[in-house]
Amino acid sequence: PLVLGIETSCDETGVGIVRGHTLLADAVASSVDQHARFGGVVPEVASRAHLEAMVPTIERACETAGIALHDVDAIAVTSGPGLAGALLVGVAAAKSLALSLGKPLYGVNHLAAHVAVDQLEHGPLPEPCLALLVSGGHSSLLRVEDVTSSINPLGATIDDAAGEAFDKVARLLGLPFPGGPHIDRQAASGSSIAIDFPRGLTSRKDLERHRFDFSFSGLKTAVARWVEARERSGEPVPVADVAASFQEAVCDVLVRKALDAASAEGIEDLLIGGGVAANSRLRAMAEERASQLGIRVRVPRPGLCTDNGAMVAALGSSIVARGHAPSSYDLPADSSLPVTSILAV
Ligand code: ATP
Ligand code: MG
Ligand code: FE
Repeated sequence: PLVLGIETSCDETGVGIVRGHTLLADAVASSVDQHARFGGVVPEVASRAHLEAMVPTIERACETAGIALHDVDAIAVTSGPGLAGALLVGVAAAKSLALSLGKPLYGVNHLAAHVAVDQLEHGPLPEPCLALLVSGGHSSLLRVEDVTSSINPLGATIDDAAGEAFDKVARLLGLPFPGGPHIDRQAASGSSIAIDFPRGLTSRKDLERHRFDFSFSGLKTAVARWVEARERSGEPVPVADVAASFQEAVCDVLVRKALDAASAEGIEDLLIGGGVAANSRLRAMAEERASQLGIRVRVPRPGLCTDNGAMVAALGSSIVARGHAPSSYDLPADSSLPVTSILAV
């Protein structure tokens, strides 16, 4: 099927077009520059930017794909989770399109879409697979039985998300927002063993209750204390070393727990998705440690890891292919949609 997907859960207005698992267009307009001076995404600003970008982004996607809107077989849209006002813009646009074109509408889960997008690059998903989903708002380990109908959470962060930790530590180091890519770049010239930062929820006691959960707020505080102590002593802060050591601590925990979960579940395929999956150290470390255990790793290219419309179209396409009934035309946007709700009714 030819599916158009719309994504507006945060600050990216994404419109993707796929045919089956073939990506035809992935147009993204980001309002990230408008949020940079606030150090985080401002919901009202994001919603307004989605309104302004929606029609031009749809037009750009159709042009790239070389299709007309009436060629589309179905419309898919992120119905949650995300910022309520931002989601509403995408959902309203998708409803208008679906109704005016007389095409079925599929309201889909943003997290499931971060998993489904890998199909556009590496072909059909191995199912079951273990998914490590790491972004600005989420850090979860998921057992994916069927990406269109059955995803079970094994664990999640109990405080900050991994991307949030990257963004906060970047801010401490005076790097621009969003900080993930800047930490990644700085870390390349620093030493990952310069500073021994804490690995959250890895002590024997914590593992009893939180084997597959994450915690990054203690790490963020440890970095803040270390930087403050340096500044008090009047010595320069070695930004590259702090970035590399911090990044190592985050990746170490993410990879360790993901591989532990895969082993515990008897799953041989690990999929990593979400914005933080763009991190070069995370990709290399996962690859290296998984191969020692005979576990295969799939990570989409960085441009498909961060929020985009192609991921929504990819999940929509799989849902259509499996014959699930479409959502109703009055489907709601749900800012706290759980990952177990993959398709809105
Ligand atoms: P959600 O959590 O709802 O999926 P999001 O806005 O966080 O939404 P994403 O685009 O998936 O959306 O992820 C953005 C996050 O990914 C930011 O926190 C950003 O710093 C982080 N990120 C992007 N590139 C890198 C990188 N190379 N290394 C580390 N983190 C990165
Ligand atoms: Mg974003
Ligand atoms: Fe996301």
